[in-house]
Amino acid sequence: MSDHALLAALRDAVGPAQVLSDGDLSAWELDWRKRWRGKALAVVRPGSTAEVARVLQLCAAHGASIVPQGGNTGLVGGGVPDASGRQVLLSLGRMNRMRRLDAANLTITVEAGMVLQALQQAAADAGLLFPLSLAAEGSCTIGGNLATNAGGTQVLRYGNARELCLGLEVVTAQGEVWDGLSGLRKDNTGYDLRDLFIGSEGTLGVITAATLKLHPRPAASLTALASCASLANGVQLLGRAQSMLGAGLTGFEVMGEFALQLVRQHFPQLPQPLPPSPWTVLLEYADTEGEARARERFEALLEATLEDGLITDAAVAESLAQSAALWHLRESIPLAQSEEGLNVKHDIALPVSAIPEFCEHTDAALQAAFPGVRLVNFGHLGDGNLHYNVQAPVGTPPDQFLARHEHAINRLVFDAVQRRAGSFSAEHGIGALKREDLAARKSPVALGMMRAIKQALDPHNRLNPGRVL
Ligand code: FAD
Repeated sequence: MSDHALLAALRDAVGPAQVLSDGDLSAWELDWRKRWRGKALAVVRPGSTAEVARVLQLCAAHGASIVPQGGNTGLVGGGVPDASGRQVLLSLGRMNRMRRLDAANLTITVEAGMVLQALQQAAADAGLLFPLSLAAEGSCTIGGNLATNAGGTQVLRYGNARELCLGLEVVTAQGEVWDGLSGLRKDNTGYDLRDLFIGSEGTLGVITAATLKLHPRPAASLTALASCASLANGVQLLGRAQSMLGAGLTGFEVMGEFALQLVRQHFPQLPQPLPPSPWTVLLEYADTEGEARARERFEALLEATLEDGLITDAAVAESLAQSAALWHLRESIPLAQSEEGLNVKHDIALPVSAIPEFCEHTDAALQAAFPGVRLVNFGHLGDGNLHYNVQAPVGTPPDQFLARHEHAINRLVFDAVQRRAGSFSAEHGIGALKREDLAARKSPVALGMMRAIKQALDPHNRLNPGRVL
């Protein structure tokens, strides 16, 4: 089948208006970080699972490869086509319906292209909570969240996307539909296929729908900022918060002073309630027992840690609007960084206990090797996950700096992570960006098993080739 014949068959399958091959396709071909620009044979926008299956069958017959895409907010170049002009970009954005909400079972079944914020709202409309939350939630889709096993700001209490998923519907590389939309919390009937697809970044199958866990909405939710003189104090504060607040501690985010300085510089309209301090922690506490009791417990933690000197200052949000403003501050860091220019991004995980020593040594090693680099260090300290990003020295064009030093900076940081039994990709996945690191750093046994799984499910390497493996 020629490209022309494939395009005609795709138009037949999903309707001519849903196959785009001319004009400006940069919304699909250029990634969020503007680092990867590809060229698709066509952008295909199916409206149902049956249409996805038909598209995959046609691509299989034609030998064309497929790049699944949700909201295109991924950060590792996994969701945009390569430059060959021969890949079909499969956009799931039109598949955004809710199929079923089962309040008694605390589950919701939605199509993969539903935007995360719309999913949170659907749960809220039923008086329930879907807790996955991240700064890209206005654009990212649940299919993309599952394909990357996204984490976000409430992992401490509710787990990442994997923990929130009970069942999946998946279209295989051959165009078959696997209906695994179980709402069961227990099911030991053989290998867990669902867990294979979660985090597989579009390389094993196309997720078309998911059944997800819902939670009761907490009666009260409180947010505070606290200043810490050192990261070691931040880690001790985490321990105290966990013992005094128990499972009610839903968020524990850390922000280095340079990260907040970038927010002040690029978004001066955003209020920062505390004066600059080496580290600022954002804590969130949710309680099922009502506002007054929650506030009492939360303030007791802050008072006790102020007295001990673990924190030097604190501000508790007095309203939902103030709480949202504190989160907005935290979530503006990636955007402020983008305004500052390209940077070497790291998304690392370490045992929480190892983080202060890791930062102290790695900061010093980076300064010694690349004098003047600026560290934008922030992230989900409660999960042991840092976005440990390296910005070019003042006056050095970021693109030149990256071209010259990205590889060496990665090696220095990832070696330091590996020595401490950490992960070089905690949240964002592998995509195109970290494929070589995976090949170099994962054990040969693990890589062998991954390749065997890929070979079994996608023997002709049609699903997102060149990503992950
Ligand atoms: P895309 O970017 O479209 O795709 C991502 C990957 O999934 C690609 O490999 C793609 O091929 C695959 N894929 C997409 N949909 C499907 C599908 N239906 N079936 C199979 N494969 C599919 N991540 C975190 O974990 N935690 C954070 O806190 C966080 N914060 C972020 C903040 C910002 C400002 C941004 C821009 C990103 C952030 N991310 C974070 C990155 C995160 O991976 C994405 O935001 C999100 O999970 C991806 O969803 P998406 O729909 O945009 O997927």
